[in-house]
Amino acid sequence: MNKKKLNKYDKAYLRIAKEWSRLSYCKRKQVGAIIVKDRMIISDGYNGTPSGFENCCEDENNLTKWYVLHAEANAILKVAGSTQSCEGATLYITLSPCKECSKLIHQSGIKRVVYHEGYKDDSGIQFLEKAGVEVELITDLE
Ligand SMILES: [Zn+2]
Repeated sequence: MNKKKLNKYDKAYLRIAKEWSRLSYCKRKQVGAIIVKDRMIISDGYNGTPSGFENCCEDENNLTKWYVLHAEANAILKVAGSTQSCEGATLYITLSPCKECSKLIHQSGIKRVVYHEGYKDDSGIQFLEKAGVEVELITDLE
């Protein structure tokens, strides 16, 4: 497939990830993620508290609670609980992954990460590149 056509799908999936970020009830930052394998969406996620916990991500000081799961972690964990696997998949995410999540991404077998916005700390991206995961930034979603 040519590069231009690929890019069209990349943008469409990234737009879905963006739509997903709006489902997050976190106030400080809303992040959405989509995992695609063989041109099929196999998982989705947004940042939020684990199942069974109240739907509030910030504490009384407006700091994000430590147990809030990031969007990509939620999406990867959803695959772990299914019959699918992330091996060879692409992760579409609205914000570049933090270093904690980048470990999960690499270890889960995801081979490509497409993101829309850079996180202030780029050590996650640096780690992924070092691990041989293809990383691409797409800022223009039109
Ligand atoms: Zn993270």
